[in-house]
Amino acid sequence: MEIALIAHDGKKAEMVQFLNEHRQILEQKRITLIATGTTGQKVKAAGYDVLSLLSGPRGGDAQIAARVAEGICNMVLFFRDPLDRHPHEPDILMLMRLCDVHNVPLATNPASAALLIKAI
Ligand code: PGA
Repeated sequence: MEIALIAHDGKKAEMVQFLNEHRQILEQKRITLIATGTTGQKVKAAGYDVLSLLSGPRGGDAQIAARVAEGICNMVLFFRDPLDRHPHEPDILMLMRLCDVHNVPLATNPASAALLIKAI
């Protein structure tokens, strides 16, 4: 199962905290973590195996969206910062749209992500 991790700058610390709180579930062998570039760096520094794609503003969200569309990525944990502006907003909307098109679970905050993670 492939799980994508994306955290906007104001939410990266929360992402690492979330992963640490669910480390046991995430370290199961059948889970592969992927992430946008900068999120991936933080996740790796916290001790997780993760495939880092491009940084979000450079196309990382679009890469994850493509994997969702192709049926490669099975869940998206996307800690958005609603109080900040993002130059790649169109990519963000595309990712969320494709999760809905393909019925792929998408959590946009830690509380929802915790519910999803506990369900796998
Ligand atoms: P980042 O991208 O992990 O490279 O910061 C996240 C985003 O802004 O979509």
